[in-house]
Amino acid sequence: MSIRLVIFDFDGTLTDIADEGAQFEAAYTRAVLDLCGEARRPAWEAARTSVLADAPELGWDMGSGATAPGDADPYISATLALSRFARAERLPILGSDDPRHAAIRGDFGGALYQAAYGALRPAFRPEARAVIEAAASRVPHVRVVTNSSTAKVTEKMRHLGLAVAVGVDGDARKFEVSEPTVNVEAMAAVPASWRVPSLRRPVLPRRGRYFDVLTRVWAETGTRPEETLVVGDIVELDLVLPGLLGASVHYVERARAHPYEGELLAEFGARASRSPSLEGALARLP
Ligand SMILES: [Mg+2]
Repeated sequence: MSIRLVIFDFDGTLTDIADEGAQFEAAYTRAVLDLCGEARRPAWEAARTSVLADAPELGWDMGSGATAPGDADPYISATLALSRFARAERLPILGSDDPRHAAIRGDFGGALYQAAYGALRPAFRPEARAVIEAAASRVPHVRVVTNSSTAKVTEKMRHLGLAVAVGVDGDARKFEVSEPTVNVEAMAAVPASWRVPSLRRPVLPRRGRYFDVLTRVWAETGTRPEETLVVGDIVELDLVLPGLLGASVHYVERARAHPYEGELLAEFGARASRSPSLEGALARLP
């Protein structure tokens, strides 16, 4: 069946993660040390190093289970490092397990994240504009589905100067393991837990909010999963759910790709492909 809808992830897929990530890490580190003291820099660096060392078994868990490798991008690894740093330094409230303070810990992490992410100077992959425009010339529908906010990503997309209109569906919460609110029967094809040989922890494919967004996009565009290509840079987060629903998937490989990601893709057979550059996704289009 021919592809009629292309869904791009945003951060790391259309953006230059090396450039934006370096900006983000610098701003995030500055904020952590301004708030917690420059003397804690070695502890902060140790926490960051340990997160990278322990991924992908160390997963990014936003409260419903591990849903992406802990080193998947600088945004995820910084969030995990903050938690490890706060515990190691026994920081009041932030470094505790006290459930009464969970909301404060969440708000603090969220505020640091938003401050660092919001200050980024947008940096796209050099081929992003040409690839989006080529996709739009070959299929009727092109969308961006992202965990980031619709408003922020729409604003960043304006910097690309696209000759075509591309809808942005933000706040997709691809990291949330939960049940869907619409078209519930279609989720029956998606297992609660999935194991591959190179990863000891289970992959948790049932992402209810992401499912809801995908379902809405398919309804709005009059397309089906079998006519869809999802392009993303984190297999576990972006591609596993749509792949299990019958979509084609293309992995834009990260510098720190893991063997288990290849094993996940192999389960999708000819519906899955991968390439180091975003341009590789165009080979999948009519
Ligand atoms: Mg991404």
